[in-house]
Amino acid sequence: MTALLAVLKPGDSIIYTVPIYGGTQTLIQGFLEPFGIQGIPVPGGRADLLDDAIKSARHLGVVLIETPANPTIVMTDIQRACQTAAGLKTAQRPIVMIDNTFLGPAFQHPLSLGADLSIYSATKYLGGFSDIIGGVVLGKDPVLMQKIRSKRSLFGNILQPDECWILNSRLPTVHLRMNRQSENAKSIAEALVKHPKVAKIYYPTLFTDVEQKRIYENQCTQPGGLVSIDVKGGKAAAFDFLRNVEIARDAVSLGGVETLACHPRSTTHSSWSAKDLDEAGIGEGLVRISFGIEDVRDLLADFEQALEKT
Ligand SMILES: *Cc1c(COP(=O)(O)O)cnc(C)c1O
Repeated sequence: MTALLAVLKPGDSIIYTVPIYGGTQTLIQGFLEPFGIQGIPVPGGRADLLDDAIKSARHLGVVLIETPANPTIVMTDIQRACQTAAGLKTAQRPIVMIDNTFLGPAFQHPLSLGADLSIYSATKYLGGFSDIIGGVVLGKDPVLMQKIRSKRSLFGNILQPDECWILNSRLPTVHLRMNRQSENAKSIAEALVKHPKVAKIYYPTLFTDVEQKRIYENQCTQPGGLVSIDVKGGKAAAFDFLRNVEIARDAVSLGGVETLACHPRSTTHSSWSAKDLDEAGIGEGLVRISFGIEDVRDLLADFEQALEKT
């Protein structure tokens, strides 16, 4: 919010990829739009549509990309969007912001791909223990950062000293935690992909779409700790699975050292219409898992026993 309000003014437009984090969508549709800022949604992973939108938007102030997108792990090409934005012949180039919560700071580096700002929910992997709420904005341009800092002072949305102390004590282990979480996720996604109770698994190393594979290989160094599993048998089966797992807790949020699993269609994405959910691949049987740092053998045994009982 601080980053957006530092650069947008009434009459501007903002392009954003969808699906996007629910709170971000509410901020754009429910808050910025009534203030006279036009929101232009573009489906994630569609570089052609994103290029067209960047070239045709009027008074474009911001391009906001969340990649990978939640919960179906669709990836958007950061470098290409930055090149298209840089090539505009308008007086003021739009600011490209990347929500890097899912794969940063370990596995995806938007600033080196040309983005202006890399934005984090520090509540997730940076904090790592699901016990603080915070946000981080990184950028290279000191003038832009100063604009954001002054809006932060104006709004007062700044971390308290004790929360800074907690966050600071977590940063030295973020790479260790994320690597372990990614290894756990990869082992289990690949072990369960042929399970008879599993219809489909959404995970970067299991991508079949050529363009998605290419973006993953160019843009990310590891696949990360988030996996979505489409369980056969729809909502009843997904709910059984969530009741039967013993190590993973049935809760939203992500990025902590404990494994969490949730049913996006009835929780994180419950405000969407059935049509939008179906089109985005967020089915009745879909379960999103945020892997923690537990022993991979325990997790695999737990998921296998939970699937057997569903
Ligand atoms: C959680 C989340 C946010 C919002 O973060 P808060 O710290 O809860 O305000 C934004 N973007 C993504 C991708 C998230 O997962």
